[in-house]
Amino acid sequence: MKAILVVNARSSSLKFQLFETEPGSRVKRLLKGQLDGIGVRPRLRATNADGAIAMDRMYSPEEVGDLPAAIQVTADWLRGTGNVDLAAIGHRVVHGGPEYSEPILVSPEALDRLARYIPLAPLHQPNNLAPIRTIHELRPELPQVACFDTAFHRGHGPLADHFAIPEELYAEGVRRYGFHGLSYEYIADRLPQVAPELAQGRVIVAHLGSGASMCALAGGRSVESTLGFTALDGLPMGTRPGQIDPGVVLYLLTEKGMDAGAVQRFLYNECGLKGLSGLSNDMRELEASTEPRAAFAIEFFAYRIALNAGMLAAALGGVDGFVFTAGIGENSAMIRARVTARLAWLGAKLAPDANARGETLISSPESQIAIYVLPTDEELMIARHTLAVIGPAAFA
Ligand code: AMP
Repeated sequence: MKAILVVNARSSSLKFQLFETEPGSRVKRLLKGQLDGIGVRPRLRATNADGAIAMDRMYSPEEVGDLPAAIQVTADWLRGTGNVDLAAIGHRVVHGGPEYSEPILVSPEALDRLARYIPLAPLHQPNNLAPIRTIHELRPELPQVACFDTAFHRGHGPLADHFAIPEELYAEGVRRYGFHGLSYEYIADRLPQVAPELAQGRVIVAHLGSGASMCALAGGRSVESTLGFTALDGLPMGTRPGQIDPGVVLYLLTEKGMDAGAVQRFLYNECGLKGLSGLSNDMRELEASTEPRAAFAIEFFAYRIALNAGMLAAALGGVDGFVFTAGIGENSAMIRARVTARLAWLGAKLAPDANARGETLISSPESQIAIYVLPTDEELMIARHTLAVIGPAAFA
């Protein structure tokens, strides 16, 4: 059986999913898994499409000390599972820079070009590229496709993708790129099946997970995003602050004696819901807490989503629909209710029972905007892209 492996690599974990290629350029999920705790407490877990456990094993830090070792262990296990014949590997790559607006077949030259964007995403890009290099060394004949989180936003106009800084910096790549593009692209693909008329209109999509952003879709195309140059802007996230006055960064540098590395670690790991609550970056824990700081962090999150919705509504010249997606958006009826209440000025009105049950359509019939909950599927999007890029080779 020909299959496509989808890889999403971070510094301490490797997430993967396996898809079978089917006639008609379709893909079917076979299994999903992850190897986390790389170098500390490595554990490989995987479940089949029906949710049954396919693998659960701990390794020593010596066996899986880094990302290349994690790839090797995962690949060995996949090979051992039997009749999987890999046609290609699709990778999530956070940054395609100004150059890439579509997924690409990765060549060694393209890999070098993508490495130039490491300064634009220092925490993610090196980890995204490492598995591509390792696999290329092990299996140079195996096609690898890079799918970019920035690509779906590359059609943004100059008003949306500029900062008010001298043009030389824009020319060298200091731009508002936007991220979570694979998630938004999936939603833009899904919407015509769920709400064909709305899919033609003006829609705000809120991707609310441990990373969070919002995107303005006009007729299914991204026209504006709350994220910019790095994944730090816009909404507060699990451990990142979202929009922050750059003066705060200057204050940390000059008054608190922090160097650039310390500021980076602080902004990526210590802020957002975690910093604000002093308790947790996990929305489930905050919702379960009786601490006033947890309640404040939740209210702040909802408030910032509503503020940013106002900005995106202005970009779109009005709003016809709103979509919640990702971990919090798909699962937290409470956050959806709070956000929707703050969007009453846009004519948003919730159907509380439908919201509590997590139905697809959660707005009441009187609502002036349609409100949906749509589960996202970035890995499926990567598998589809990979299949489209390699074409008939997927079945040869
Ligand atoms: P993601 O990054 O998309 O996997 O989303 C992770 C976030 O979703 C975490 O903050 C989780 O706490 C949150 N989440 C997942 N399930 C729930 C739930 N049932 N209620 C509230 N938040 C949830």
